[in-house]
Amino acid sequence: MNISITKTTCPKEKPDSSTLGFGQVFTDHMFRMDYTPDKGWHDAKIVPFENLSIHPASTVLHYGSGIFEGLKAYRRADGKVQLFRPIENIRRMNSSADRLCLPQIPEDIAMEALMTYVRMEQDWTPNTFGTSLYLRPFMFGNDETLGVHSVQHATFMIIASPSGSYYKEGINPVKIMIEDQDVRAVRGGTGYIKCGGNYAASNRAGERAEQKGYSQVLWLDGVERKYIEEVGAMNVMFKIGDEIVTPKLTGSILPGITRKSCIEVLQKKGYKVSERLLSLTELEASMKNGMLEEAWGCGTAAVVSPIGELCYKDEKFTINEGKIGEVTQYLYDTLTGIQWGKSEDPFGWVQPID
Ligand SMILES: *Cc1c(COP(=O)(O)O)cnc(C)c1O
Repeated sequence: MNISITKTTCPKEKPDSSTLGFGQVFTDHMFRMDYTPDKGWHDAKIVPFENLSIHPASTVLHYGSGIFEGLKAYRRADGKVQLFRPIENIRRMNSSADRLCLPQIPEDIAMEALMTYVRMEQDWTPNTFGTSLYLRPFMFGNDETLGVHSVQHATFMIIASPSGSYYKEGINPVKIMIEDQDVRAVRGGTGYIKCGGNYAASNRAGERAEQKGYSQVLWLDGVERKYIEEVGAMNVMFKIGDEIVTPKLTGSILPGITRKSCIEVLQKKGYKVSERLLSLTELEASMKNGMLEEAWGCGTAAVVSPIGELCYKDEKFTINEGKIGEVTQYLYDTLTGIQWGKSEDPFGWVQPID
């Protein structure tokens, strides 16, 4: 694939890594490539970062045909920059594209786009542990018509944002409210893909939880409101006695790469991990009889996020005395060790940028 490169003539000043938030500062360049049925994916280019000019009838603005991915570039102590399981993000993006009838990108082309772009922007990767260069590939339907039909013109882009550590004040367990009104997704819908619409539909519950002093909601399934699905925009895991339970991928749950990695790390360590249905009734019973030892969310942003309190219909349950548990800490140490190159990667997950 030929990627044309236009370098910026006025490079921006790179921010100090201690002041970084999340997704506020962007690098000097962006990747773009367009799709039409006759040309396929074409016109791949890296250009200076700038606002997009978009037709007011563009499909994504009206009919929500937008998908995205999120992954990080990590700087190791020796200065090298590396990615964590990027092929998994590319495969998931194609699965998202398939669901919304957007064109898929052949894996080798998507990987070349990503690697070429990260190689060019890698100096923006901050160098303290916990910080990273957040990468945001995304694709949207870009037809210039209000007619409702499958997308003909699509645009794929990658942008990057140097981001601060998720845990600036140490890993503090969060309080989570179990949501019994809104649902995030239903089977047969779009819960298993990363599309913007899922986030839009989640905002109201998130806001209500925040008003009550909780940081996120625990989602129940969209049909019976009986089974545990996810926590905010993270997958969720529980240690109940000797079993580690995470909701199985029924179609309404996002197949997280952190979730998958946690399962593999735990199994290698000898834990019993079950991907199965977990009802709210069972979870409540496990809290009341003391079997629930740990609970945590997992996703690229936080790696793991321990849950210290769960609230259901104004009844509050404290988990592990509101402290991070042993398994949660083990997962955090193991995954961040591999990602920031502080420890060996026995799984072959990291991909250094040359
Ligand atoms: C992105 C996302 C996750 C986590 O996926 P990772 O690949 O681990 O980052 C979990 N749930 C939802 C709803 C998400 O959008």
